[in-house]
Order: sequence, then structure tokens, then C-alpha cells
Amino acid sequence: MLIGTHISLPYITGALATIASKKAGFGKLFTARNLLIASIFGMLPDMLSIHVSQEARHASYTHTIWFILACTSFLPIFGLKPLRRLFPTAVLAVYAVFLHVICDMISGGVPFSGVGNGITGDYYVMPEYWIPMDVFFTYISWNLYKKYLREDQEEIPISVVCEPVRIEK
Ligand SMILES: [Zn+2]
Repeated sequence: MLIGTHISLPYITGALATIASKKAGFGKLFTARNLLIASIFGMLPDMLSIHVSQEARHASYTHTIWFILACTSFLPIFGLKPLRRLFPTAVLAVYAVFLHVICDMISGGVPFSGVGNGITGDYYVMPEYWIPMDVFFTYISWNLYKKYLREDQEEIPISVVCEPVRIEK
């Protein structure tokens, strides 16, 4: 699948989780900014292994279970106190990588168990649907942002931005 779908699907998941968490009274799970940053990690497998052809994807180490596990191994760092508030964002970022590999698995296949160990998956979703899916999922993401998340942006108070500077003479 294409980059719009790889970013939009984790964004939609995170946005729905945030909306559900707010409605259930647990408060905001992700800010709009955190959600966007985590979703951009959906591009990571293609960014670290840029490819155009399907053969190149089938030889890509970033489309394997081992790459997903390597990303997951960073999560304990976000259990440390100074980074703890970013833990849900880090989990969503790893989920975005996982979802990328699964989406590519159903749209041509990936070397899931390792390069050279055969291809897992097939063209269950044909390439002619990829661009319409990009448009559709991006449209849904934009609407979720507009309707539920835009007002939640953390704005820096103007007083902090314009802190007076004392000049010593
Ligand atoms: Zn990919």
C-alpha cells in the first residue's frame, strides 16, 4: 500500500482511541500533535529501505518481524519517569510500524520471517485500490482531526513566547 494509508491508519486508530477515552471519562489519550508524530512512524519501514519495485520490498529487512521486534525493544525506555508521559505515543508509533508491515503483507507480501525465508502474504488488496484507499483514509483522518482533535491542540500561552528579556547595562 501507499504512504497515505500507512500514516492514516495508525492516525485513525489513535484518534478513535482518544475519542473513546475522552467519552469514557479517562481524559485525553493523545494530543493532535502526538498523534501525528506517532503516525509518521508508519512511513519508517519504507523510509529506511526506499524501494519502488515489489522485488525490492521482498528483500527489505524493515518489512520483517525482526524489525518490528527491534522497534518494540525501544518501548521500555519510555517507562522511565521523564519519558513516561510519551509512553502511549511510543506504543502508537510501534503499532504504526506493525500496521505498515501487515498492510504490505496483504498487498503483495513481505519477507515477514526474515529476508530469504520466503514471502508471507499476497495481493489480497490489488494495486488499483491503493490510491483510492490513500484518498479515503486521508479524508477520514482529516475529518477526525477537524471534528474532534483540533480544539485539543496544546497552545503555548503568548506570555511564555513573549517573556520580557532584561538587558544588563
Ligand atoms: Zn512498505
